[in-house]
Amino acid sequence: MSRTERDKFPNFINGKWVESDRYFENRNPANNALIGTISEAGQAEVDAAVQAARDALNGPWGKMSTAKRSEMMHAVADGIMARFDEFVAAEIADTGKPYSLASHLDIPRGAANFKIFADVVKNVPTESFDMVTPDGGQALNYGVRGPKGVIAVICPWNLPLLLMTWKVGPALACGNTVVVKPSEETPATATLLAEVMNEVGVPPGVYNVVHGFGKDSAGEFLTRNQHVNAITFTGETGTGEAIMAAAAKGVRPVSMELGGKNPGVVFADADFDKAVAGIARAAFDNSGQVCLGTERVYVQRSIFDNFVAALKAKAESFKLGDPLADGTNFGPLVSQEHRRKVLSYYQKAVEEGASVVTGGGIPVLDDALKDGAWVQPTIWTGLPESAAVVREEIFGPCCHIAPFDTEDEVIALANDTPYGLAATVWTSDVGTAHRMGRALNVGICWINSWFLRDLRTAFGGSKHSGIGREGGVHSLEFYTELKNVCVKL
Ligand code: NAD
Repeated sequence: MSRTERDKFPNFINGKWVESDRYFENRNPANNALIGTISEAGQAEVDAAVQAARDALNGPWGKMSTAKRSEMMHAVADGIMARFDEFVAAEIADTGKPYSLASHLDIPRGAANFKIFADVVKNVPTESFDMVTPDGGQALNYGVRGPKGVIAVICPWNLPLLLMTWKVGPALACGNTVVVKPSEETPATATLLAEVMNEVGVPPGVYNVVHGFGKDSAGEFLTRNQHVNAITFTGETGTGEAIMAAAAKGVRPVSMELGGKNPGVVFADADFDKAVAGIARAAFDNSGQVCLGTERVYVQRSIFDNFVAALKAKAESFKLGDPLADGTNFGPLVSQEHRRKVLSYYQKAVEEGASVVTGGGIPVLDDALKDGAWVQPTIWTGLPESAAVVREEIFGPCCHIAPFDTEDEVIALANDTPYGLAATVWTSDVGTAHRMGRALNVGICWINSWFLRDLRTAFGGSKHSGIGREGGVHSLEFYTELKNVCVKL
């Protein structure tokens, strides 16, 4: 069954489109045009989705072999790629991100997430131990992995399909069923994915989508539902705390991928041009709306002035405009509300005494885009480490650059944050590279690169940036229950 009206975003429950009696608007952040209406799931719709997901565990899905399930996940990935243009268009309309980004990152990676985990579950062994029993006999122990059950998947808006399938891929590959709550800002690709699930024959109830907000809405109804067996969440640290509180009732496991205030460190011996290009990506890609992005840059003093000038030139070279136009490489923020937040930090930086190297306000664009959620790429210098824009996650296209002298000093600066998600370090000295990799308190440390992801590796944050690791075999720790079978021989 497919949706008939493309400007409607209904809920998807037990393989069917379900409307509720409450709606909210979906707007394109590039020009504020109305895309369509989203059906907000109430308690009844959320409970029905969870019930469908429970029932599906006992249907054909629960009896399906790992090999068959894995084949089906490959078919889902192929189904996304077969409708590539539709997925790209939907992601661009919801987020305003440029075509170049959505077509190279969001949608291909969104599809690849199904394949990688389908292959992981087929190829990962479990442990086995022979033991001598107290009566002098023998026993054999072996591990068996089974699904956890119904998984609630709660997603943010910055990389909607990619971050959602990063969780749905392993959850389904491991035999669970899911109820997805996409961000209220970006309902489209989760809804399109429902069509693909039906097209490739994923049984009803395995993949469900409920739309809505967090508190007193679909998000909270879902996390409080006691038939949800585990909750996987990507979003702000404060939201993570609220979800953990909900998960405490019923002692349900959580996987949390949360906020960051990530350092970028550039040593004087780094390849200068590559470091500038790398930090420019880390600070400005996706208009700074990447959890792994760099909002604090530390540059060794001897190259500080040159580096600031070169990054300024990069920031001023971005082409802002219609996301679908050739050459556009910088989009708006996701919403007017987010723009208000980012602009409030732009103002705070000035109040706290920053030197504004570039940007700091709203760009002047064509009439067609004047109502969009645009802000200028922005660089500051001259602030103390205690300044709000140096300490708090802004999630916008901006960074503060500060000089440093020694390795010990920059390690202390980089680690002085409640967050611990990612870092990017630029140096040509192999010793410095490895020492920094160990010294920084983060879940992922890139050396001479940024956002280079091998999906087999562990991904997650330390401190306030998260709980748990996902990726490759690490995802199995969360999405399966490991049971030991002990056979007395
Ligand atoms: P958010 O926390 O505002 O919202 C995320 C999701 O949670 C949305 O679907 C929202 O509706 C839902 N939600 C909100 N309150 C809820 C509640 N009380 N109960 C249940 N659900 C609730 O985050 P956002 O603004 O959408 O995304 C940006 C944030 O996500 C940034 O902080 C960013 O760093 C973080 N992020 C982290 C990673 C990572 O891998 N660590 C990746 C991407 C984004």
